[in-house]
Amino acid sequence: MKSWQTTDPAKLHSIATDIRKSIVESLAEAKSGHLGGSLGLADIFTVLYFSILNHDPDNPSWPERDRVILSIGHVAPLFYTTLAHCGYFPIDELKTLRKLGSRLQGHPGRDHGLPGIELSAGSLGQGLSVAVGMALAAKIDRKEHNVFCILGDGELQEGSIWEAAMSASHHKLNNLTAIVDRNGLQIEGKTENVMKLEPLNEKWRSFGWNTINCDGNDVAQILNAFIEAGNNQNAPTVIIAKTIMGKGIHSIEGDYRWHGKVPASEQVVGFLEELQNDRF
Ligand SMILES: [Mg+2]
Repeated sequence: MKSWQTTDPAKLHSIATDIRKSIVESLAEAKSGHLGGSLGLADIFTVLYFSILNHDPDNPSWPERDRVILSIGHVAPLFYTTLAHCGYFPIDELKTLRKLGSRLQGHPGRDHGLPGIELSAGSLGQGLSVAVGMALAAKIDRKEHNVFCILGDGELQEGSIWEAAMSASHHKLNNLTAIVDRNGLQIEGKTENVMKLEPLNEKWRSFGWNTINCDGNDVAQILNAFIEAGNNQNAPTVIIAKTIMGKGIHSIEGDYRWHGKVPASEQVVGFLEELQNDRF
């Protein structure tokens, strides 16, 4: 664990608040992008990067690093903000989100030159296959690092996810943890109306995975879930994290229309104040 990493829930909550404020500011500047999912996943990213991951922002291609595969590529504002707050690049660069020539495009691209990005993402349903390949490669090379893959719940409707899930358990990839952002929503509405996912735990278990459920907006629960996943030795583990889209801004929480919407200029100050007052 690095000196700037912590397991203190109050400190983690405070970091998540700073990250949420940066997300709102960068999206307000860009005037486009994905707010709802970015806010909903902020606590999970915070715990992952500031507690769990073995990584070095000063040496982003360190061979022994844990890998994070962002499959749900449209939460790029959260991904970039977390990387910046860890020290991968200056926080000031977040202002260039979605600008022409910026390294921070609407979806993460390996060829944009931003450190900390393992996979170009945005086409949903692909990340878990890449994560399985990386976890299998680590096994073959007898490396100790772990692979984490962050999935939206809507993208579980893609068939490729389940091919990857089947192969992960076949190869006994206990170095692989998937995290499902179970906010129950996708671009067109509720997942259970578009194409139902439940019973989700049973689906993963039938594919040979360990399952852990947690409140994905409770940093202490998230931390325990990651620790439990790390202790599982027999199979890959999925953490099904119940989150609230738009978490932290009451007026937009749980509203799927904020999937890809940004605050109007007159809303920004109020949103930032509300986030600032969200105490642990
Ligand atoms: Mg969702």
